[in-house]
Amino acid sequence: MKKVYKAHILFTKEKSRFEVLENGYVAVENGKVTGVSTDLAQLDSEGAEVIDFGNKLLIPAMNDMHVHAPQVHNQGVAMDLELLPWLQNYTFPEESKYADVSYAERMYRRFLHTQWLFGTMRSVVFGTVHTESTRKLMNLYKEAGMGALVGKVAMNRNCPDALCEDVDAYVEGQESLIAEANSSLFTLHSSLPPLVRPIITPRFVPSCTPDLLNACGELAKKYQLPVQSHLSENTSEIAWVAELEKESTSYGDAYNRYGLFGQTPTIMAHCVWTNGSELELMKRNRVMVAHCPTSNFNLSSGLAPVRTFLDEGLPIGLGSDISGGHDLNMFRMLVYAIQVSKMHYQQDKSKAFLTLPEIFWIATKSAGSFFGKVGSFEPGYEFDALVIDDGVLYPDEYSLPHRLERFIYLGDDRQIVHRFCRGEEIKEPALV
Ligand SMILES: [Zn+2]
Repeated sequence: MKKVYKAHILFTKEKSRFEVLENGYVAVENGKVTGVSTDLAQLDSEGAEVIDFGNKLLIPAMNDMHVHAPQVHNQGVAMDLELLPWLQNYTFPEESKYADVSYAERMYRRFLHTQWLFGTMRSVVFGTVHTESTRKLMNLYKEAGMGALVGKVAMNRNCPDALCEDVDAYVEGQESLIAEANSSLFTLHSSLPPLVRPIITPRFVPSCTPDLLNACGELAKKYQLPVQSHLSENTSEIAWVAELEKESTSYGDAYNRYGLFGQTPTIMAHCVWTNGSELELMKRNRVMVAHCPTSNFNLSSGLAPVRTFLDEGLPIGLGSDISGGHDLNMFRMLVYAIQVSKMHYQQDKSKAFLTLPEIFWIATKSAGSFFGKVGSFEPGYEFDALVIDDGVLYPDEYSLPHRLERFIYLGDDRQIVHRFCRGEEIKEPALV
């Protein structure tokens, strides 16, 4: 069924500027954009249903490229600790509770509902080590119609017994999730991959023995699955990895040696301290950075050099990283990322801070490339979109780019009135 949506349309085809279509039209068929124009006659709209959103804004939906679903209960808690004590004292005890699938379901529903509220339609997400709870999380995303790469976490050292899983048990659990995902290839638009898929997820090098890292690399290769993990977040962590992986030339190289660094599409969270040979390896292997500004300042990790990543042409997206990060609102993440880049600029004036079009492009089109063609309204892109009613923000006094900027800086979920993922309107997911 062809549909045409009319609104004030803004998106970033290029990182340097917004495309702005006042009273524009976007045509959608089989989940994908077929055309975008201010002239309806330019679009193949014969027989299409035209839906007029009036004075509202239509923008690409948000992508959260690094987030821990089982940390939703710890959101906004224990923000006075650095990474390693925070993991031991708060994160691991909470994740241990996910052995209980009914607890997991209650919390995961809460998590998904919040993502929906803030217009996050795609995620790259960590679950826990528990296979059944991870299966539940995948099924909740499917039920909601929201896209996600969902990771059953691999970890077998330097963690409480309740979260240690030996290599064989990990492989068996992971393969059962992969088999299930492959057997339910049913998708509304058969030319597109399933919206919800597994992603290979070693927690980070200190949590995984060489055997386990090896098994992760083998699974990624065998099933051609993407990979996610953490990289160069905190200086104590980097020193620990250097101790554990003596033969590696950098933290990134430790993943690379196990086939977990761009051999299949890979995303690494943080990269606060990435430079030199690690940066070169990321460029060569096209590893995406998930920049998590709130997590980096909450855990006093440092200021990630995002301008350098952009200039070097590294793929990059934004992550909320709850509960190191405190906020699931990705629009706020754009603001935080700009603010972090301004602090970085104060330390190094040769690195310009990020502009709003740049960060919007990072959060939409650049991040979306990890899922295929997502994050823009160019023809061929999947229609992931939000309709923003900024009526309470005095829209008549501002230009369209300033209206979007004010929504990003001042708005919240109350202004998001419609949400689309792959062309389908996504209704409010149930909390229970
Ligand atoms: Zn994380």
